[in-house]
Amino acid sequence: MSRPDKHELSTLSFNTLSVHGGNEIDKTSGAIRTPIVMANSYLLPYDPSTMDWSDTEAPSYTRNSGHNQICLQRKLAAMEGGEDAAVFATGVAALHAVFFTFLKSGDHVIVGDVTYEAVWRLFAELLPQRYKIEATFVDMGDMEAVRAAVRPNTKLIHTETIANPTTKVADIATLVSIARQAGALLSVDSTFTPPPFFRPLALGADLVIHSLTKYINGHGDAMGGVVVGSKELIHHVKADALVDLGGTISPFNAWLITRGSVTLPLRLKQQFATAQVVADNLARDERVAYVTYPGLESHDQHQLAQAQFGGKGYGGVIAFAVEGDPDAQNRFVSNLKVITSAVSLGHDETLIVHVGGSGRGGAERYPLNFQKYGHLRLSIGLEDPEDLIADIKNALDETFGQS
Ligand SMILES: *Cc1c(COP(=O)(O)O)cnc(C)c1O
Repeated sequence: MSRPDKHELSTLSFNTLSVHGGNEIDKTSGAIRTPIVMANSYLLPYDPSTMDWSDTEAPSYTRNSGHNQICLQRKLAAMEGGEDAAVFATGVAALHAVFFTFLKSGDHVIVGDVTYEAVWRLFAELLPQRYKIEATFVDMGDMEAVRAAVRPNTKLIHTETIANPTTKVADIATLVSIARQAGALLSVDSTFTPPPFFRPLALGADLVIHSLTKYINGHGDAMGGVVVGSKELIHHVKADALVDLGGTISPFNAWLITRGSVTLPLRLKQQFATAQVVADNLARDERVAYVTYPGLESHDQHQLAQAQFGGKGYGGVIAFAVEGDPDAQNRFVSNLKVITSAVSLGHDETLIVHVGGSGRGGAERYPLNFQKYGHLRLSIGLEDPEDLIADIKNALDETFGQS
């Protein structure tokens, strides 16, 4: 019994790949699902003394490459349309792996001015202060500003496709051309826009990063991260950041994510469709101070998002606030019954978090209405839209008194 090998995987269509990618029939038991291999070590050859202990291809030690990790890497590389992938214990470990592998003292980086908090702190504080890596934070909605920020020592441009938490959209094709002209790599955190919805490598991005914790696992029960790219770039990521920094994913989590990702295309379709309906509803309610969602015509980059994502949707995350002071946001959230107050996103259940208008991580760069009201990040799950809309309406009624 044989399953498509790595080479053949690339010929399968996406839904088929989501089901079969990375899965192998177990040779020992005949089980048709890859078992969880909870082993730290793998049997060595007769003469191991000449082995490369940093090898990440053949399993020897699970920090370098374990069975479930290899299966997940094969699957994610094929889904994202890359030659290879390196998986990590968290999304932040995957992001750091890219920065650690490809940057050295004296290098310059261009980073989106709205970016995941850990990335903001890495480039605003940790990497410049400790390793003399220079970073310029730039509005990824303004390609002229990105072009103007390029320096002779610019080695990397890093952006999110849709930025967490303000939903600013980056123009990936233009960033590819700017990076190429600058002789820099383009790394894209595509956590908000997983495949098959969007594939930055197809447009020429060098590296794609996901927090697997979010949509790709999708069930809110395992953390992970991945970097996808060419064989050569991923070889460096594995050798430098996996083997010698050691942020390896556990076999159990790799197995959970391999399983969770089977339903990725179905979940994305439903979550993104529901997000549009919920965003439209929020935008019509006068007790809502503002709604920011790339699927609304009022979004600054609605046209770009429409063109870039081919009208297939606009993601599953909505930023908004209700009228009133910051505590009005807390009262509204506490009145929700179906929607849960918790961090993270892309889970099967709808989550909301009151991020606030200020605080850590470049919040002063958030749009003015975010700063004035604070803001709620709503990540749409798999519930029926009617239930979510009713929950929001009831919570608004309770917060503002029946209208
Ligand atoms: C959550 C998130 C991360 C970090 O991933 P973890 O798995 O929590 O480490 C990175 N980027 C984006 C856009 C995210 O939403």
